[in-house]
Amino acid sequence: MKFSDLSGDVIDRIFINLPDYTTLSTVLRASKQLNEVYIRHPKSIKRAIANNIVGPAWPAAVRAAMARTLDLENIPGEEELRERDIELSREGLQVQLHAEKVKHLEDLYSWRHKDRTSSTSKLTPEESFRFRRALYRFWLYVLTMRQYELDFEGSEFAEECVDFLSNFSSDELYELGAVTSFLKETIEWVMRADHVATLPDHHAIEECRLMFASEPETVAFGFEACILEADVEVASDDLADEFFDRNFNRVLEDRNIDGELREKKIGAAILTSVTGAQDKCDRCSAQEGVSLWGSTNWTLLKGCLNPREMCDLLDALLPRNKIEVSPIIDDMKGKVDEFDYKGMIEEMLEMEPDPLGMWSKDQWYCLECVRELFRQRFRKWLLARKLNRGSALQDCWYGYNCTTQTKTADHAKRLNHLCEPTRGNAPPP
Ligand SMILES: [Zn+2]
Ligand SMILES: [Zn+2]
Repeated sequence: MKFSDLSGDVIDRIFINLPDYTTLSTVLRASKQLNEVYIRHPKSIKRAIANNIVGPAWPAAVRAAMARTLDLENIPGEEELRERDIELSREGLQVQLHAEKVKHLEDLYSWRHKDRTSSTSKLTPEESFRFRRALYRFWLYVLTMRQYELDFEGSEFAEECVDFLSNFSSDELYELGAVTSFLKETIEWVMRADHVATLPDHHAIEECRLMFASEPETVAFGFEACILEADVEVASDDLADEFFDRNFNRVLEDRNIDGELREKKIGAAILTSVTGAQDKCDRCSAQEGVSLWGSTNWTLLKGCLNPREMCDLLDALLPRNKIEVSPIIDDMKGKVDEFDYKGMIEEMLEMEPDPLGMWSKDQWYCLECVRELFRQRFRKWLLARKLNRGSALQDCWYGYNCTTQTKTADHAKRLNHLCEPTRGNAPPP
């Protein structure tokens, strides 16, 4: 059977099952016959494809795409959009671009909040719908309120934000609260993963605030690249400090929803169930559930315990020995896949001796126990790595306790300090 023998109904079926608008354009270029079927009802085909790209949250996705070129008052509501046309070059392709980033963020959300064993989304269709709809709604908020921020000041700006948020039911607001708290947590992750050599400083905290007024795709990019960089500059304090939280809280306060209830509802707004929610740390039995660390999520550690913080867990005065700590911090700069975090941790877990059988690469640990692993074994791992690389130096007698290693660069360069002291006493803390 040839393609040209297919009936209009069958071709119609094919159209409404196309995965995206790029494929639609390719198909339309392919034959006149296909075009003839398409022009009979292009609107419903385009809406069906929006659903294939985004899922049932597609009207919220189209609104966010429209906000790139239109003011809020000219953007139709979600219900209205279900009957309206989608303009391909302006909105359709934008929806497609946004959807890729939303998918990455959903994968991350699922990994950190739903199922720590999978880096791709395990959200149910309902959970995914709630997550995506809220994320697109926040995206629309970011694009339109940022515009208002330029036009209005102080209380006027806040009124616009409150008006926007007042359109949602309380349940929908809780979903927004859950998604924005996830974005904030991701931004903090990015801050730690980018600022590998320092603990969060004033500049980084400022950038975090601005990143929260950035588009979700900027957050997704920041996560992939481990780069903390907002897509907006400070025009006023409104943007840095008052962009979302204060207005969001005001809407809920106006509805007499107190802080405790708010927190409880937000915590359960997206997910119906969490895999392994009751799981305990295999070392200390703390019930940490999705926050436990193990073989499937070591790559995320960098943004929770960053390279500088790892080095600060080294023995005695070693954290202040730049010659010993700078090379590992430098190696951990950049994207997470450029350094083998899983390999490093698993080597530390497999180190001997382990008389109490405390550590194993098949077990799960809370962050506090991961810190303890670094206290006990990171120095030994660094030493083994140094020896493997052939940079063996004579050991300093005072080992990690040596005070000279922090003061005299020549001494720190000339001798190894990742060793146990063989002379002297421990220095004062
Ligand atoms: Zn523990
Ligand atoms: Zn020394």
